[in-house]
Formats: sequence, C-alpha cells, structure tokens
Amino acid sequence: RAKRDHRGICLFDAKMDAEMRDRRRLENALRKAVEANQIELAYQPVISTYQGRVSSVEALARWSHPVRGPIPPDCFIDLAEECGLINKLGEQLLHRACREACDWPANVAVAVNLSPLQFQSGDLLDTVACALKESGLPAQRLQLEVTEGLMIKDVDRTFRQLEELRSLGIAILIDDFGVGYSSLSYFERFPFDKVKLDKSFVDRITTSKTSQAIVQAVAGLGEKLDMAIVAEGIETKAQARLLTEYGCTHLQGYLFSRPLAPQSVRDFVSETKVYAHG
Ligand code: C2E
Ligand code: CA
Ligand code: CA
Ligand code: CA
Repeated sequence: RAKRDHRGICLFDAKMDAEMRDRRRLENALRKAVEANQIELAYQPVISTYQGRVSSVEALARWSHPVRGPIPPDCFIDLAEECGLINKLGEQLLHRACREACDWPANVAVAVNLSPLQFQSGDLLDTVACALKESGLPAQRLQLEVTEGLMIKDVDRTFRQLEELRSLGIAILIDDFGVGYSSLSYFERFPFDKVKLDKSFVDRITTSKTSQAIVQAVAGLGEKLDMAIVAEGIETKAQARLLTEYGCTHLQGYLFSRPLAPQSVRDFVSETKVYAHG
C-alpha cells in the first residue's frame, strides 16, 4: 500500500506530512490573527415578512489571510475549534458584534453564531453578559444562533445555559434546522425563540413537494409554539414568495442583501424598502 520512491521515502507519508505542515501554518496564522483581533464581521440583513423591514442582521466571521486572501469561515471556524482557539475567537466576535451594533438603529438586532464548544467552556454566560455590559447594547438586541451540535454533549447543562442566556432577555435561535440529527423533541425541552430552516429546504422549495410540506409543517409548529421561522439562502423572488405564503416570518439571502460591512448596515436599513411578496 505504501509506495516508496527511489530513496525509500514513503510517498503517502510525504503527502500527509506536507498537509500537516500546511495545516500547522494556517493554524499559526489564525492564532496570530486572533491575537491581533483581525477577524472581522460581515452582517447579513434578515427581513421580517410581517413588518417588511430589516429586523436583525446575522454576524458572519471574515478572515483575510495575509497571503492566501479570504478563507471561508466554515474552514477557519473548524480549525479554531480543533486547535483550541474557538473560545477566544468567539468571545472576541461577541464583543465586536455588540460594539458594532450600537451604531445601528435601535430596532435592529444582531444575531451571533455560537460554536457548541463555547457551551463547554463554563464561562459563556459571563462572556455574553460582559459583552453586553461593555458595549452598552441592550440584551433585547442580541440574538444567539446555536446548532444541534450543541445537543450531543451534556444536554442538561446545555439547556440550563440556554435558559440563563434567555433569562437575560436574549433570543435563542436554532440554526440549520431539519437536517442532521435535529429533533422535534428539542422544543419540549427548550422554548427556542426562532427556528432557522436549513438552506437545503429553501433550495428545493420551488421544485419539491416534500420540501414545501416540510416548510409548511415547521411554520405551523412555529405558529403554535410561538417561534419565529427564518428561511435563509433565498436567491430568487419565487422562493421568497412561496416561503412567505407558507408562513415563514423572516427571510434572509442574497436576494435581499449579501453580508455587509458594519458601516453599511445603517444605510441599508434606512433605505426603508418595504418588501412585499405575495
Ligand atoms: P450559517 O450560520 O448557516 O450562515 C449562513 C451562510 O450562508 C453564510 O455563509 C452566508 O454568507 C451564506 N448565505 C447567505 N445568503 C445566501 C444565499 O442567498 N445564497 C448562498 N449560496 N449562501 C448564502 P458564510 O458566511 O460562508 O458562513 C458559513 C458558516 O460558517 C456559517 O453558516 C456558520 O456555520 C459558520 N460561521 C460564520 N461565522 C461564524 C461565527 O462568527 N461563529 C461561528 N461559530 N460560526 C460561524
Ligand atoms: Ca447562522
Ligand atoms: Ca444556517
Ligand atoms: Ca452551516
């Protein structure tokens, strides 16, 4: 299995070794970027279908590597989780989001993504409280997006932390809902404020009867349980129209706006566009 070149060096190992070194370098660059507070946030507007205005923006991490240029967040967030940087980075981004949100109109909330590992650190509640206090942002303007990955470990402790965060006045959203292992029984254990449907349902909404039925069912559940239903990744008017018709309360996607630089949020919000689909 292990091929060897004429010097007898295992080629397979050599390739692995190169990959490892490459990863190591990226990890070091990320560590430096976190230490220098260089990871920034872009903010994607979320439209309330009922109010026809921007009700919140989602904070999305952005890192531009000095040589390689922009690195996708999926990639460096995973790396940060694997090399023990996620708590420091997560804390930094919370502070940054709260601070930047203070410059926007008071009826716009900011939604920050949390890694499941931040719930294992033991000081998430303090970190969040501190970010609110230091920035002066009211808790009602902060939302936290969590994923089902959260439910894998120590579920009772996790739900306790969610309760505590919620008691500060922060809305809790479950992201990427409906794929993987997300389960309806979560709703029995914790009253989420918002449910964000996985983008895959949005992708298929105009073509798949099954996706249509699923979105309608989740929207019905949202109505009964008093949870907002967010659809993300909307790229076409046809998608927006159907999702609104099926009862989604909030829409997000390139159709409305790409993620924006912090200083562009205010202008986008005050353009007072009224979005009407239907
Ligand atoms: P997510 O939380 O599901 O974020 C939504 C992703 O969909 C974002 O990608 C966003 O830019 C993209 N998107 C929004 N509208 C559209 C659309 O109309 N079409 C398409 N094709 N894509 C759209 P992004 O910014 O690359 O982030 C990817 C993932 O990285 C996020 O998925 C989230 O899981 C993670 N992430 C990003 N920022 C953070 C962060 O600050 N903390 C943590 N823990 N994770 C983050
Ligand atoms: Ca998210
Ligand atoms: Ca998502
Ligand atoms: Ca995702």
